[in-house]
Amino acid sequence: MKKTLYLKFILAYFIFGVFGFVIITTFVPNMIKDHLVREKADSLYSEATLIANTYATGLYKSEITLETVKAQLDALSVYLNSTIRIINPSGRLVLDTTMPLDVENVIVVDDFDPTVTRGSYYTIGTFFDDFETAVLSVIAPITNNYKVKGYVVIHSSMADIEQSAAGLLNISYLTLIILFLLSMIILIFFTEIVYIPLKKITYATEQYASGNMRYEFQIESEDEIGYLAACISFMASEIARSEDDQKKFVANVSHDFRSPLTSIRGFLEAMIDGTIPPEMHEKYLTIVLNETERLTKLTNSLLTLNNLNTKGMMLDKSDFDINGIIRKTAASFEGTCKPKNINIELVLTGDELYVNSDVDKIQQVLYNLIDNAIKFSHHSSSIRVETSEKKNKIFVSVKDTGIGIPKEDLKLIWDRFYKSDLSRGKDKKGTGLGLAIVKEIITAHGEHINVISTPGVGSEFIFSLKKSQYHDEEY
Ligand code: ADP
Repeated sequence: MKKTLYLKFILAYFIFGVFGFVIITTFVPNMIKDHLVREKADSLYSEATLIANTYATGLYKSEITLETVKAQLDALSVYLNSTIRIINPSGRLVLDTTMPLDVENVIVVDDFDPTVTRGSYYTIGTFFDDFETAVLSVIAPITNNYKVKGYVVIHSSMADIEQSAAGLLNISYLTLIILFLLSMIILIFFTEIVYIPLKKITYATEQYASGNMRYEFQIESEDEIGYLAACISFMASEIARSEDDQKKFVANVSHDFRSPLTSIRGFLEAMIDGTIPPEMHEKYLTIVLNETERLTKLTNSLLTLNNLNTKGMMLDKSDFDINGIIRKTAASFEGTCKPKNINIELVLTGDELYVNSDVDKIQQVLYNLIDNAIKFSHHSSSIRVETSEKKNKIFVSVKDTGIGIPKEDLKLIWDRFYKSDLSRGKDKKGTGLGLAIVKEIITAHGEHINVISTPGVGSEFIFSLKKSQYHDEEY
């Protein structure tokens, strides 16, 4: 495909050259000749008319002698490079600038007919066989007292005109050659601007198609081709990135599944082969149970993330009271809070606060945030869940006074499987998927979530929700 595009362009270039040549050789010579003939005839006719109205009329009125007229016309004929004649209506030659005056020998132009020009003012031919080669002849009548006394006829050699036409035609050919050579610039531009970049792009796409997504190429132009190259390059890097993400994801999932499975297997084997005595079984079976719980949690989180991804924006939105949902979710953590002596403080705006969102998913967000707040809080501390209203938004904040998040981790906590070093010791059951799920849900709603955190002081997660339009009167 690459080759043919270039060949096509070169073919078009040569077709342009051949057509140019054919058109110049067929039409231009006639156009030039016609133009030169008309121009010459125009000027000769003006001269002939002038002579007819001056010298010739004077001659017929006997005001000027034939010799004087002959001398004048001889000089003029040299200047015009033509033959000037005065002919009587009968065809008798009165004067001819190519011959001396000879009154005795009467010369007659046989078959002379002044209407030979047929409505035009000039004619081309041998002029009643008077010349051997073609001449351009103009005829102007000499009138006296409204009578035609004779004619001034000027002949000019066609060979001269043809010579001039050939000269002009040569100039046309030269112009064509120069144009042809200059249009090579277009060919060079095409090669530089279109062909070479296109070749690079095609090669790059071939590389991508064969799986080499890391192939890099650069086209430094700011036109459409440059833009196309940048788009293709970006597309390839995105595919490479998503491939990497996928690999990382599978590696993380496998790792997170393997460690609980290894520990379950280890404990069970030890129990079967008697390394763990029967009286200790309950303790280790509890550990095994906890590990299976962790696996269930991990599987559920993965399924949730997968559903969020595949369903995309498919949210089941409705108007509901966020305060009510917060109360319900906080209550579900009572059992978890008690052993750590953690108190969940609710600072809710109004009694009911209606938002328009997917209730199940927002409950999941609250669950994950409160779960994290409890996990990373110190013993005997307090967690504050607050709702506030600003313009058409409802803001929900979950604040703890726990271990906090180091500054360099703040951007990473939203990534799948990310767990900060600080949290690893405190929360062995964490999957690192909780906040990724939270982020996906809030983004799917077209809303935002933010975190403010200081290590050793605590963290606050705040997210926005769209206020319900139909429950304004409630507050
Ligand atoms: P998990 O809690 O299962 O490890 P998450 O995605 O919910 O996974 O959280 C990712 C990481 O963000 C946690 O491992 C922890 O390091 C940090 N983090 C989340 N919430 C808090 C919090 N309230 N206080 C301190 N660190 C937190």
